[in-house]
Amino acid sequence: MSETDEKPARVTAGVTFAARLAFEQVSHRFVSDQVTLEDVTLAAEPGEVLCLLGPSGSGKTTLLRIAAGIETQSAGRVLLNDREIAGPNVFLPPEQRSIGLVFQDFALFPHLTILDNVRFGLTALSREEAKGEAMIALSRVGLEGYAGAYPHVLSGGEQQRVALARALAPRPAVLLMDEPFSGLDSRLKDTVRAETLAILRQSRATAIVVTHDAEEAMRLGDRIALLRAGRLVQVGTAEELYLRPADLFVAGFFSELN
Ligand code: ADP
Repeated sequence: MSETDEKPARVTAGVTFAARLAFEQVSHRFVSDQVTLEDVTLAAEPGEVLCLLGPSGSGKTTLLRIAAGIETQSAGRVLLNDREIAGPNVFLPPEQRSIGLVFQDFALFPHLTILDNVRFGLTALSREEAKGEAMIALSRVGLEGYAGAYPHVLSGGEQQRVALARALAPRPAVLLMDEPFSGLDSRLKDTVRAETLAILRQSRATAIVVTHDAEEAMRLGDRIALLRAGRLVQVGTAEELYLRPADLFVAGFFSELN
């Protein structure tokens, strides 16, 4: 198998190769047999920021976890470009998916320096190469000056950027972010959101961002996918959902916005 079969080509230093991530008729049940996801067909197009919006319990995190390979769907498949990464007879391990994940609580290791936190996932590279890649990722988020510091000296917004650098360091084809701003002070949120969007645009990653906040989805998403009780209700631009909601649920979600 050639290298291009195995992982997306590297384009320019520090720039991610954007891919299309598609869910085809994905359903999911937990052991209790409660429906978590029902027949979800949805794709994030190369380089777009797709927001997964919905109330708590609507299945957003489960859909991300299925894409990342830390949860398995009960039916349907997931494709990265044309390659099936999860399906009835296929399960590509998370580390081979070229998918980066940013957790809600940033999940930085407090006892490791910022550099080592970012270098953590780069195990396939030599120590020096990993350091170089980690420094590129840190400079992408404007924190190369903090390489030797420990996470506790950073503000919440800066820690979020380190988590972003760690996810971008292996140059994933797709970046998944689960409520990435919910742990931040409300005064910081706007700034960090704008910074994150700029970094995503520069790195050209395809990104799926989970949020329960309609305003956040409208600010961030090129498109928004709205979930309710495990079903996809509507996908479109913020304008489409706001001006032409598919039903009262969608209208209600956006009604408090100006
Ligand atoms: P969201 O991210 O939209 O809040 P989730 O994907 O976390 O939704 O959860 C969807 C549904 O699955 C919820 O009803 C939740 O209670 C249930 N659920 C989540 N994790 C588990 C689990 N480990 N076992 C059983 N049910 C779960």
